[in-house]
Amino acid sequence: MARRYSRATSWRTGNTLSTNARQLLILTILVYTGILSPFTAEAGLYTASDQIVILTTENADTVLFNSTAAMVVEFYASWCGHCIGFSPVYKSLARDIKEWKPAVDLGAIDCAEEQSRKICTNFGIKGYPTLKFFHAYGTSDSKGQSFRGFPRDVKGLRQNIIEKMENHQEPWPPACPPLEPASLAEIDSFFESNSVQHLALIFEASNSYVGREVTLDLLQYDNIAVRRVLSTEEVLVSRLEVTDFPSCFLYYPGGNHTRLRVQNEARTFYSYALQRLPGVVRTGKPRPLTSDLLGNTTDEQWRVFNRSRVYMADLESTLHFSLRVELASHPILRGDALSALRRYVSVLAKYFPGRPVVKNLLTAVDSWLQAQSQSEISYSDLRDVLDNTAEVPDAALPEGQNWVGCQGSKPHLRRYPCGVWTLFHVLTVQAKSSASTEPLEVLQAMRGYVHSFFGCRECATHFEAMAQDSLSQVDSASTAVLWLWSRHNHVNNRLAGAGSEDPLFPKTQWPTPDMCPACHGVKRGGEHAWKPAEVLSFLLSYFSSERLLPDHLEEESRLLAQQKEQREARRQEQEVRRGAERRAREASFTQPQEEEEDEEEEAQEDPADEEAGEGGGTLEPAPWVKPEAVAEEEGVVEGGRPSRQRGARSRPSVVGMKLREPQEDIVDLDSFVNQHYKAKALRVAAAVSAHVKRRSLQRREDSVLGLGLEAGPDLPGAESVDLGAGQYKRLQKRGLTSQYRGSEEEGVAVVQLYPHDPRGRWMNVLSVGFSGLDISLCVILYFLSSMCLLGMFLFFKMRPRFRRVKVAQP
Ligand code: FAD
Repeated sequence: MARRYSRATSWRTGNTLSTNARQLLILTILVYTGILSPFTAEAGLYTASDQIVILTTENADTVLFNSTAAMVVEFYASWCGHCIGFSPVYKSLARDIKEWKPAVDLGAIDCAEEQSRKICTNFGIKGYPTLKFFHAYGTSDSKGQSFRGFPRDVKGLRQNIIEKMENHQEPWPPACPPLEPASLAEIDSFFESNSVQHLALIFEASNSYVGREVTLDLLQYDNIAVRRVLSTEEVLVSRLEVTDFPSCFLYYPGGNHTRLRVQNEARTFYSYALQRLPGVVRTGKPRPLTSDLLGNTTDEQWRVFNRSRVYMADLESTLHFSLRVELASHPILRGDALSALRRYVSVLAKYFPGRPVVKNLLTAVDSWLQAQSQSEISYSDLRDVLDNTAEVPDAALPEGQNWVGCQGSKPHLRRYPCGVWTLFHVLTVQAKSSASTEPLEVLQAMRGYVHSFFGCRECATHFEAMAQDSLSQVDSASTAVLWLWSRHNHVNNRLAGAGSEDPLFPKTQWPTPDMCPACHGVKRGGEHAWKPAEVLSFLLSYFSSERLLPDHLEEESRLLAQQKEQREARRQEQEVRRGAERRAREASFTQPQEEEEDEEEEAQEDPADEEAGEGGGTLEPAPWVKPEAVAEEEGVVEGGRPSRQRGARSRPSVVGMKLREPQEDIVDLDSFVNQHYKAKALRVAAAVSAHVKRRSLQRREDSVLGLGLEAGPDLPGAESVDLGAGQYKRLQKRGLTSQYRGSEEEGVAVVQLYPHDPRGRWMNVLSVGFSGLDISLCVILYFLSSMCLLGMFLFFKMRPRFRRVKVAQP
C-alpha cells in the first residue's frame, strides 16, 4: 500500500515537474518574444516550493481526475486583494498538512492567467478565492465540491478538509487510513490482520479532530497505526483506565498498553512523539540502527557527540570550506560578490566566537579586505591572507573539514549546509549578546553570502525569496535571532522527507519538545503555538559562546607549527618556481631564433618528447596546477632542488645512450657562440670532436680488449668522420669544445640535431674537419692573394711603358 501511494505521489510530482518545465520554456519564449511582459511572467501567488501544486492547462486534467489522492484547489485571481490576503494562510495550511499529501494534496490555479481562464470557466468559478474538493479517482466530468464560506484560518480549513475526507465516496484514496472511530471489536482483532509494531489509540470526544489529524500526520510512517476511540467506547475506556480526553495510549498484542507521555495533550505533541517511537520510520527511509551513533556509512571514523550542543569544530570546518573551497571558485571577486564577501568577513571578524588564533586570522583578513581599494581582487591574493603568508603572529585558520555535530550518516548528507546554518545562528546570537545596534548586520551578511557564493543555487533562490518576503520585519537583534530560527524551520518543514534528509537526523520543527519544553505551547483550541520569549532565551543559550564545545579541535600550538611548516614549504616552492621562470625567461631571451627552429625540428623528430611534455613544453604553469606539479612538469624540482631543465626532462636517449643532464652554463655559452660566430657548423665540428674523442677512447678500450673498431653505427645520421688532432686543438683553443668535450653524449646529441640536414652532411664530407668559416677564410684569402698577384703582374708589365713616357718628356 505504501509503495502504491509513494508511486502515485512520485508520478504526480514528475508529471508536475515536466509540465512546469514545459510551461517555463513556453513562458520564457513568450517573454523573450515580447508577447508577455516580465510582470505577467512573474504573476501568481504561489510557487512549487510552497508545497502547492500549481495547476495549468497542461496538468489540470492529470492532477484533478483519476488521481490516487484527493485534491483541494484554490481558484484565485492574482489581482484580487482577498486572494492576496488569503495566500499566506493557504501556504501555512500547505505546510501544516504536508504529511497528508499521499491522501489529500493542495493545488491552486490563477484564473487571471489568460490560458487558465478556460479551466476556471469550466469549473463554474464566479468569484475569488474559491476552494473546491476533488475526490480521488474523480472523473473528467467532476466539477468538485465547493467549501462554502470556508474559514480563513489553518485550523478551520484543516478540519473542513477532514470532514470532506470522511465523506469521501468510494473508491477511497488508498493512502488514507480509516478516519472513523475504532470499535472494541476492531481493536481486539487488530493485530490478527496488521503486522505493525505499535497501535496508538487516541481517546477523545466526538467533536475533537485530534485523533484524525494525528492519524493523517502518521500516514507516511511505517510500523505504526493510529486510531481514534471515542470517549463513549466505555469498555475500552475502562479497560485502559482512560480519564483524560484527549489522551493517547500505545496498545500492544495481548492487551498490554501504556499511556504516551507528552508535554501537552495536543496534536503536535502526539505526532512528534509517535513519529519517534522505536521502529517507526518514514516510508521509504532506512530503519534507524539500534545505536544510531554508529550508523554512518562514511569512511571516516564516527565521532560520538552530544546532539544538544554546538561544536567549534563544525564552525571552523564551515569557515574553512566557505573561505577556502566555496570562494575559490571565484578567481576574481568584484561588484556585488566583493561587497558580500566584505560584509561576511566583517561580521566574522566582529562576532565569530572563536579561539584567539582564528579570531586573529579573521581580523587580519578583514583588515586586508578593507584596505583593498581597487574594484576587484583576486582570490589567490585572498588565499595568501587566509594562509597567513604575511606571518601575522598567532593567527591561523585550520585547514580541512572536521565535522562533529554536523556529521552525516552518508558523505553527501549534512556537513557544510548544516555548518552554514549553525554558523549564522551563532553569529546572530553573538550580535545580540554584543548589543549590536545594527539588527540586520548579520542577516544581510548571510543573505549576501548565500546569494553570491552558496553552492546550492536552489537553496540560495529559496533563501533570497524568504529574505525578500520578510527580512524587513527584523527591527532588533532579538528579532534577527528569531527570524533566522523561524526561516530555518520553514526550510525544515519543506525538506522533511526529502532526499537530502539524513535518516539519522530527521527534519523537525526545532527545538523539539524534548529539547525545549518551555518553547512549546497550545492555543485555546488545542493548536500548537511557539512561545517566542522562551524560544529566544533557548536560542541565546544554545548558540552562546560559553556553550560551544571545543572537542576534536586541533591544538593551537600544533596548528601554528603546521602553518609555519606549510608556509616554509610554500616559500621554497615559490623560490624554485621563480628560479625556473627566470631561467626560462633568460633562455628564451638569449636563444636565437635559429636555435629555436632547430629545437622545433628536433621536437618534430622526437614524438616521445611531445608526449612527455604536454602542451608543447609551455613554461607558464596553469593557475590551478600545484607548484610541485609545475616544477616537476618543467623538470626543475627534484627533492626540492633544481635539477633538470625544460627539454631534457624526458628526451629518450639517443641510440641507447643516456643524455647528460644539461647544465645552465651550456645554455648561455651556446647562445654566446651562436650570437658571435653564427656557427652552427662549429657545434657540429665540436660534436664530431667529441665523437672522435669517444672513438679514440673506444679504440683504446678496444685495443685493450682486442676488438676491432666499427665506426658510425652508433651515430645514425652523423656520417663517419675523422678529426685531426690539430683541428681538435684549434677548436679547443677557441674554448668551444670544453662543453662538448666533457661529454661524449652531448656531442652525439648535437650531431643528432641535424641527422637529415644535407648541409650538415655536406659539411662533414667536404670539410673533413674544416669549419665553414675556415673554408670561407681560405676562399677570401685565395681571392685576395689572386688579386694581389694580378695587381703585381699588371704593375710590372706597365712599368717600362711609364718609364718610356717619362723619358720622352722635355
Ligand atoms: P540543518 O537544517 O542543516 O540544521 C543544522 C542544525 O541546526 C541542526 O542539526 C540543529 O541542531 C539546528 N537547527 C535545526 N533547525 C533549526 C532552527 N530552526 N533554528 C536553529 N537551529 C536549528 N536544502 C534543500 O534541499 N533545499 C533548500 O532549499 C535548501 N535551502 C537551504 C538554505 C540555506 C541558507 C542553507 C544554509 C541550507 C539549505 N539547504 C537546503 C540545506 C538544508 O537546509 C540542510 O542544511 C541540510 O539538509 C542538512 O540538514 P541537517 O539535518 O544537517 O540540519
